[in-house]
Amino acid sequence: MSRSATLLQLQSLDLELDGIRIRLDAIEASLGDDPAVRDVQRALLEAHRELQTARGTVKALEFDSQALGEKITEVDRRMYSGGVTSPKELQDLQKETESLRRRRATLEERQFEALVEVEAKETEAAALERQLQAAEGAAAQLHGALLDERGRLRASAERLQTGREALFVRIAVPDRELYERLRPAKRGRAVSTLEEGACTACGVAPSSSRIQSARQGNDLILCGNCGRILCAD
Ligand SMILES: [Zn+2]
Repeated sequence: MSRSATLLQLQSLDLELDGIRIRLDAIEASLGDDPAVRDVQRALLEAHRELQTARGTVKALEFDSQALGEKITEVDRRMYSGGVTSPKELQDLQKETESLRRRRATLEERQFEALVEVEAKETEAAALERQLQAAEGAAAQLHGALLDERGRLRASAERLQTGREALFVRIAVPDRELYERLRPAKRGRAVSTLEEGACTACGVAPSSSRIQSARQGNDLILCGNCGRILCAD
């Protein structure tokens, strides 16, 4: 095999390894964090907070209602105790009890609305809890599939890495160095093939003398345009 063809083979292993590494990174990211579960968890937390607030409102209104009830009882007691005889005072007490009863009616309306709100929040939280269970179930399933895939990819990477090492030691040091230097600069592709007299990486046709030298394979010839190692095999 010519020097450039050996480097091309090395590149094919490296590109395959690159692909595996990208996929493995994505798998690690997915395993660490499931967006669907996280979204439902956040919504559920918010729903519980709102439910707490709604229940607090109900409690506060109950307290107000009780205090108001006690006040009404007290005014009524004074009115009917026989202790108050002045018509003016009785009239005032009558007005007060009427006003208190109006306040109680308004309060009862608000209590009813608050209870409806609590019920709505309870329904919402229950639905989100079911949703969370479903999302967690799906995540666990996906988790299992991802762990399987990770296992397969790691095995492939190990096999490719072994093959790469075996190949790498057979390559002359200056060729390795040139390849390693070009690879990051050429987005992973340090070697390009020739097809119908043109470099397949950049599409430009090298001079016939370059092509000739590349075909002879004694030296590593670079594409005059993109600077990649040309492989004519
Ligand atoms: Zn080129």
